[in-house]
Amino acid sequence: MYLDDIKKDLKELLSEKRYEHTLGVEYTSACLALRYGADMEKARLAGALHDCAKYLSAGDKLSYCKKYGMPVSELERKNPELLHAKLGACFAYEKYGVSDPEVLSAITWHTTGKPNMGLLEKIVYIADYMEPNRNQAPDLKEVRRLAFQDLDECLRLILRDSVEYLSTKASAADPMTKKTWEYYQNLQEDKKED
Ligand code: FE
Ligand code: FE
Repeated sequence: MYLDDIKKDLKELLSEKRYEHTLGVEYTSACLALRYGADMEKARLAGALHDCAKYLSAGDKLSYCKKYGMPVSELERKNPELLHAKLGACFAYEKYGVSDPEVLSAITWHTTGKPNMGLLEKIVYIADYMEPNRNQAPDLKEVRRLAFQDLDECLRLILRDSVEYLSTKASAADPMTKKTWEYYQNLQEDKKED
């Protein structure tokens, strides 16, 4: 499916606010792709589709996982919201005909990140956090500045703030977020030592 058709479909499915966020992630991903020489089409596609499964109810998320034969952890079963990223990649593939592994992986990891991310994964992760409609996160100004200067340092800051934020929340945090934070924290410390 072409990007324009995908966006038409998402406009129908997502709430107005979620759709605005989706457009924000799409064009912020495009800006970062310009800056870092990533593939423009892939960046826009991954940005547009990253939350494409977010509109599903918790129950529907679980039944789609069953349908696709996706393993669901104990934590995910209790917090089906965590599944929207992996399910988003399934939808991108099944429903929107996206088969590019980089795009699918960027969608899969947009919420938690993962150690040693590729360029497109980093771009969509960062764009999701800082797109222009976002206004809650601490250090947003610094994140937006760093995004165009040093991707790994930008990731380190986002992950530090995310781990801190998640630790204050009652709802569950995916352990991958902490793992990713530790990776980028160590990476940046090693760079300083060199
Ligand atoms: Fe998301
Ligand atoms: Fe999002």
